[in-house]
Amino acid sequence: MKKTKEKEHYVKLIFKLQEQQMSVSVSTLSQKLGVSKSSVTNMLKKLVQMELVDTAPYQPIALTEAGVAMAKEVVAKHRLIEAFLVEVMGFSIDAVHPIAEEVEHIDSPIFFRRVKEMLKQDQTDPHGSSIPEIDF
Ligand SMILES: [Zn+2]
Repeated sequence: MKKTKEKEHYVKLIFKLQEQQMSVSVSTLSQKLGVSKSSVTNMLKKLVQMELVDTAPYQPIALTEAGVAMAKEVVAKHRLIEAFLVEVMGFSIDAVHPIAEEVEHIDSPIFFRRVKEMLKQDQTDPHGSSIPEIDF
């Protein structure tokens, strides 16, 4: 997995677990991602250095403000792409998630601005989840 992509996956997963009011720990992340606890610990060190994540002994892992912003952007990209695939490209709803998992990592504001402009609505994805408001 590419480095940026991997970081974005971690940040997105922590964001989603927090949304579900789950307490995020190294074991939770290692379980959900299917990787060893030591790889999780290594990645968390990098994310702390980048000031995306806060860790403290015996405390749940938390995103910083910058981490939350990054997670919202990835989630917005994912859900906009799903909406675009269904509304503009005619994909069936159950086919769009794996494609969005890839496209969400593209670093091109102009691309996502254009996707947003082409949609009739940019509030809700085809699964009914709300799309975070992001200015690309
Ligand atoms: Zn999805």
